[in-house]
Amino acid sequence: MALRSDSGWRAQLVPSYPDLFHPAGDPLAAEGWPAVDDGWRELLERACARIRAAVRDDGGSFRATQIKEKYGSLRFYWSGRLSPEARTRVEEAIDLAEARTATTCEVCGEARHRKLRPRSAVSCRIQPRAAARCARCLRSNGGVLPLIF
Ligand SMILES: [Zn+2]
Repeated sequence: MALRSDSGWRAQLVPSYPDLFHPAGDPLAAEGWPAVDDGWRELLERACARIRAAVRDDGGSFRATQIKEKYGSLRFYWSGRLSPEARTRVEEAIDLAEARTATTCEVCGEARHRKLRPRSAVSCRIQPRAAARCARCLRSNGGVLPLIF
């Protein structure tokens, strides 16, 4: 899942934002390659558009360093030089995306109405990304449902 490949939305998103992803021109080598599943695509695309607008208005620099799922929601790490105002805009865009992923299935993009939590460290190891999935996607994945509701 989310393996680096030259096809699919990630391979389109990364070169669409050479101002955010480095090195530019080699999407598969980009530091911030989105290592997340398809359900978070729109949230990420929206965040990138908002970040670009903030960086362009500011004239500063931005570099996505890591984009991944952790504990059921998005983590978007970056570095760069921005004015305090632009930094606030960027952090708001990222905070909003991260907050939305907490209630959005990483696989199908459907709303997760309940906060799903791994029942134990063992189930966490069996399905490390289970917390980011809706119950339907977990079941269709053939996995146990290591969750409490
Ligand atoms: Zn789902």
